[in-house]
Amino acid sequence: MKNNNPLVLRMDDVGASSKKFNVYSKSRLGNFLFLKRVKPFKAWGPYDEISVEQWKKIIELLSSYNFKLTVAITASWVDENNNLIPFPEKFPNQANLLKDAFKNEMIEIVNHGLTHCVVGKHLPRYFTSVRKYHREFWDWIPDDTQKMHLEESSRILKEWLGNKIDTFVPPGNVYSKYTVEALNELNFSRINSSVQLDCHYKNLKMIDEKNVFAFHDKDISILGIDWFKNQLIKFQAKYSASFLREL
Ligand SMILES: [Zn+2]
Repeated sequence: MKNNNPLVLRMDDVGASSKKFNVYSKSRLGNFLFLKRVKPFKAWGPYDEISVEQWKKIIELLSSYNFKLTVAITASWVDENNNLIPFPEKFPNQANLLKDAFKNEMIEIVNHGLTHCVVGKHLPRYFTSVRKYHREFWDWIPDDTQKMHLEESSRILKEWLGNKIDTFVPPGNVYSKYTVEALNELNFSRINSSVQLDCHYKNLKMIDEKNVFAFHDKDISILGIDWFKNQLIKFQAKYSASFLREL
């Protein structure tokens, strides 16, 4: 039976180049040269960005099942030469469609970092895993770099959508007290993560994942739209749809 429990459906990694470069294996042998790109050694990437056609279907399904989706966007794509390409430039068609859905309040858009990775360390290695470097806000990243990444990602999202995006979802649930300080300085309103730090969040509302179903664009890319449809059917029977900012 349906109750009034709110549920946020949150899709991470839209626009993040980690889907291309976070190529690693869970076995040591699998990290040897090209083996990591080949099944069964492949563990994360590469997979494709969600296409415009797929987004259209996702939006249709949200409308049919009267549910909501929070999209965690990484504001720029990092290429093999360390260039940062803003999401609306790299994926203009997806960006237009998502902007419309955002304006119609079909989706909520939140900040999932500027790069999702440590720039310059993000390319696959021949002998070791690169996974660690596909997190952005480690405590060993200088505070001014962290602040710059938050500031620049905010700027890109605002220029694209016309609204300030004030909810932050740290890539891979990795962030530090410096990140929290910078978020406060930049007037973010909330952070959503399964990890809670022992620090003062001040004006930042800390939202855990108790009412959040977090998944990745990878799930749709690999498992297909029907997988997403089945999640919607399951959730809409039990929960009331919510955005993070409504929790
Ligand atoms: Zn992520």
